[in-house]
Amino acid sequence: ASESAATDLRRNERAVKLPPASDAALRFIGVIRTPWVHRDACPRQGRPDGPECRLVLDPVWHDALQGLEEYPMIEVLYWLDRSRRDLVLQSPKSDGRTVGTFALRSPVRPNPIGTSLVRLVRIENGTVVVRGLDCLDGTPLVDIKPDRCAFSPKAPPKSGEGEAP
Ligand code: SAM
Repeated sequence: ASESAATDLRRNERAVKLPPASDAALRFIGVIRTPWVHRDACPRQGRPDGPECRLVLDPVWHDALQGLEEYPMIEVLYWLDRSRRDLVLQSPKSDGRTVGTFALRSPVRPNPIGTSLVRLVRIENGTVVVRGLDCLDGTPLVDIKPDRCAFSPKAPPKSGEGEAP
C-alpha cells in the first residue's frame, strides 16, 4: 500500500531509495473509524466541529482508558498506513514549487505518524468518541494522551524541573 513508483512524482518532487521499512516495533492499540473512505473527502486537518469518529481499542487496552474522561481535549497519534514514505521534497500544490518533507504536515513522510488534538465526546465500552480527526476509515491507532496543556504530571517532580534561573 505504501511506496509508489517514481512515475507518481509531481513536478520537482524527489524520492529516495530506501531499504524496506520495518514497522515491527510499533504496537497498534486499535483502529480508527471515520466517515472517510477516500482521501479526496478526508479533511487536511481535523476541526473541533468535525463529525464524530471512533477510536476502537483492542480489548486488552480497555482499562488503559481509566481517567481519560477527565480531559476535554486529548491527543491522538495514528499511523497513516496508506502513505508513501520515500519523498524528501514535495510539491503540495502540484505546481513544481517544492518544500522539504519536514516542513510539511503531509501524510507522506518516512514514518507516517499523524497527530491531532481532538475533542473528547464520550467513552463507551473501550471506544473513545472524538471530534477533530482527519484520517481514513481503518487507520491504525498508535497512542492516546491527555492534552499537554491540561495535564499536570501525576508523578513527583524530578530534580532539574524547578524554576528556570
Ligand atoms: N493531523 C495529522 C497531522 O498533522 O499529523 C494528519 C494530517 S494529514 C495532512 C491528513 C491527510 O492525510 C488527509 O487529508 C488524507 O489525505 C491523508 N490520510 C488520512 N488517513 C490516511 C491514511 N490512513 N493513510 C494515508 N493517508 C491518509
